[in-house]
Amino acid sequence: MNNRPQCAKCPRMLCYPNIAADEKPSFDEAPRFCPSKSKQDLIEKSMREYDRQDIREFARLASVQEFECYEQTPDGFRTKIPRMEETIQFAHKNGFKRLGLAFCVGVANEARMITGILEGKGFEVVSVCCKAGAIAKETIGIRPEEKIPGPSRYESMCSPITQAEILNSEEVDFVILMGLCVGHDTLFIRYCKGPMTVLAVKDRVTGHNPLAAVYLSQSYYARLLMPTSA
Ligand code: SF4
Repeated sequence: MNNRPQCAKCPRMLCYPNIAADEKPSFDEAPRFCPSKSKQDLIEKSMREYDRQDIREFARLASVQEFECYEQTPDGFRTKIPRMEETIQFAHKNGFKRLGLAFCVGVANEARMITGILEGKGFEVVSVCCKAGAIAKETIGIRPEEKIPGPSRYESMCSPITQAEILNSEEVDFVILMGLCVGHDTLFIRYCKGPMTVLAVKDRVTGHNPLAAVYLSQSYYARLLMPTSA
């Protein structure tokens, strides 16, 4: 049995205790796989990163933004800010002026709307579509029968590396990732040099809400729980 972290299987969530500010969290009853207990060295090492002034300030503003997404009412917490607005507020808090928008051609209309919203809030927006360059898909070894419009049609490849390099060259303050495919987003994140956030992830079936299939995994998407690879 190894002690690899398994927070997703934690029965207690002792790292998020409901205690007074002057009390100390205790992990005495934490499960064997609890990283709060077994990874003390890495916790200390990672916390030293917050000693860097820029990182500390970025982290502080992110948590202030998180706080502002709720309102305290006599009935308890209520949420009040959608992610689009959260992104705008966070960008303003950080003093970002020029935003990069990396989007999938499948959400080009949404990219246009988002650009209008951001420009209306005073930002300069530099946007790059995943197809920029119009390089043929065959370039990376895709066979004609693997092209979405069919073997006899030209299909531009998605090039998240190109998207990242263009946005890097434009020296944007903050990048917003929108609707890239699984794997394409991985490459974008790997090559993008500046700070970035994800506004939306692509889900062709659920209107870009991948958790919908998770919520339905005990009914309409029960196949997700079947022991197969697909
Ligand atoms: S850090 Fe420990 S207490 Fe927190 S969720 Fe993970 S296993 Fe549970």
